[in-house]
Amino acid sequence: MKPFHSSEEMLDAHELMFGEAGRRCAEIILKWATTLFAVPLDVLNIRVVLAPVELGPYNRHTGYHYGSEGSGTFILGNRHIVKLSSGTLVLTEQSDEFLIGFEDFIVHELTHARQACLERQHGWKRTRGAHRDQGWYAAVAEACPRYLGVELPRSSWPKGPRTPESTLTEVQMCHWPMSLRLLATSDDPRLPKVGNTPTVVHDRLEVC
Ligand SMILES: [Zn+2]
Repeated sequence: MKPFHSSEEMLDAHELMFGEAGRRCAEIILKWATTLFAVPLDVLNIRVVLAPVELGPYNRHTGYHYGSEGSGTFILGNRHIVKLSSGTLVLTEQSDEFLIGFEDFIVHELTHARQACLERQHGWKRTRGAHRDQGWYAAVAEACPRYLGVELPRSSWPKGPRTPESTLTEVQMCHWPMSLRLLATSDDPRLPKVGNTPTVVHDRLEVC
């Protein structure tokens, strides 16, 4: 699909389609898609679809990302994210806690977009779902310092279903970023603060 021409067009399109809730989604994408990962995502080719219904095989699923190289990225927010109220889509909750969760939801899906880039680049394959593989861990590790202020060193990546206590669990990695935020705020030693470990410097400027 053709990308948006500008961030203004992207914001307006999301607002026209989905109201303020849509604009908020586009704002969060613009805030993070170019800064969170080692290589910026193709931000003007990311779309959010808000549908206040249940879509997908599992009740708890709230977002999906699809897209091969160059085809764009779609993020779906369903009734866990928005509801229809008097003809307008509104975010399901307005508490501060929810808004953190809402931003987390977008960041989680953007991380899948980066995961897909890494898989294409390195030829990595998913063998056990979407959250238990090298591509997911690597994408989370890129985003973790900037989003949460902590590093996710390779020594903390899970090593399978029965991973040692010195690593995070697969379930914790599934629930990025909320689960890692909880660990970071309790000073978990598996997530050292940024600055306490060497940070990989990336100087590549191409768009993923
Ligand atoms: Zn996911």
